[in-house]
Amino acid sequence: MPELFIGGQWTAAADGQVREIRCPADGIPVATVDEGGPKDAAAAIAAARTAFDDGPWPGTPAAERGRLVLRVADLLVRDKAELARAESLDTGKRLVESAYDMDDIANCFRYFGNLGAAGGTDRVVDTGQPETDSTVRHEPVGVCALITPWNYPLLQTAWKVAPAVVTGNTFILKPSELTPHTAIHLMRLLAEAGLPDGAANLVLGAGPAVGAPLTQDPRVDLVSFTGGLVTGRRIMAAAAPTVKKIALELGGKNPNIVFADAEFDTAVDYALMAVFLHSGQVCSAGARLLVQDELHDTFVDELVARARRIRLGGPFDEHARTGPLISAAHREKVAAYVAAGLDEGAVLRCGGAPPDDPALRDGFYYLPTVLDECTPDMSVVRDESFGPVLTVERFRTEDEAVRLANDTVYGLAGAVWTQDAGRARRVAARMRAGTVWINDFHPYVPQAEWGGMKQSGVGRELGPTGLAEYQEAKHVWRNTAPRPQRWFE
Ligand code: NAD
Repeated sequence: MPELFIGGQWTAAADGQVREIRCPADGIPVATVDEGGPKDAAAAIAAARTAFDDGPWPGTPAAERGRLVLRVADLLVRDKAELARAESLDTGKRLVESAYDMDDIANCFRYFGNLGAAGGTDRVVDTGQPETDSTVRHEPVGVCALITPWNYPLLQTAWKVAPAVVTGNTFILKPSELTPHTAIHLMRLLAEAGLPDGAANLVLGAGPAVGAPLTQDPRVDLVSFTGGLVTGRRIMAAAAPTVKKIALELGGKNPNIVFADAEFDTAVDYALMAVFLHSGQVCSAGARLLVQDELHDTFVDELVARARRIRLGGPFDEHARTGPLISAAHREKVAAYVAAGLDEGAVLRCGGAPPDDPALRDGFYYLPTVLDECTPDMSVVRDESFGPVLTVERFRTEDEAVRLANDTVYGLAGAVWTQDAGRARRVAARMRAGTVWINDFHPYVPQAEWGGMKQSGVGRELGPTGLAEYQEAKHVWRNTAPRPQRWFE
């Protein structure tokens, strides 16, 4: 069956192009999928536009839209095993992690479904003038282009699709060209749940060929993008001539601050998880460890000892604790950051190379790497390497920790570890990041907003703000007793 979904029809790419998807864990071909281009993007925009302007979805009662989104949540649970397997084959991620993601994805649909089913968010306004009715209505924005990355393919998609659908928008989804399979499956579930033709469209393909036209076309009202900073800047510029609404979830270079009074064993354990989960291919990865001077040596020694024991392996290796990088090109980028760090004076404590295990030879693996004695000016500290690379910096005082933590163009997430509750609160308040964890790392819930300060993005996903991104506020004023005003007489 062809894999593009346009106007309710499964269709092949207009130019007949296809792309082979290979599992990053072993290089084995997973499937060949249709590879869309500008003509397919244009067809999908036309379908989404017609479905929005003339179709039933935007005018469907909110409670009914909510029920449909809740049905999708049930279908995601039904198909969890198949979806998790597809996600792992595309990304190389451990099957158990993909299965956790599928639970989170169903919860995201459930959260937004319930928010929608609870009814509209319209507000009656008291104008102070007796002969008027005044209401602020929250209406769908229109046609949304949803552009997503490869690291959490269906999760990032869910954060966009669920609120977009429940608020009555129509959309075109462009997933990462590297990881298309769970997006294809989601289209089937949306159709099965009863979403009208044209409300959901899927165009697979590369960023410049499919993503770029979506960000430029005047028929698109909103672009919601998750991906890298450089692409985010391009999208912002491309959306400017037609003044589209934009929501950008970009990268991070997230500080993990450990004070000397932190609970040692737990802080070491979480510092590893913060950065090496999914081989560091996590936007909120705790890739910068800031550790208080007096704790530094014992903390880093223990961390390095444990990092050396992390077992790498493919999705179905039950003993593996983390997997490969997404591609050969990405592994080269990570290796280049490590080399630059070493050139600039960082000290390699472990990793810094692909594993020599012959069983992993065909995958894009890279060893968990710790670079000690780093300084804020190093590119490996400043830029997002998006790999299993931890940089370690020392600090002496609370002020210095905050200054180092905030010394980045990014502002996505960060954590502080201390048993002093007052200090934890003070530091959390001063950190310029969209999410701050105290004595924890990585958890999120769909009820709470997610997003970045500074160059980590524009807007928020999840929570009530994540819903509001897909709505326009319209003030409707009714004069209940109109009379001539004779303004010009
Ligand atoms: P990327 O920016 O390379 O690509 C993301 C998406 O944009 C892909 O679908 C790609 O095809 C598309 N794209 C590329 N060029 C485009 C263009 N000119 N116009 C429109 N679309 C275009 O990012 P990636 O490598 O897929 O993902 C990794 C990045 O995503 C990291 O920087 C990571 O931090 C970020 N990320 C952020 C969050 C968050 O919540 N803030 C979550 C996950 C990932």
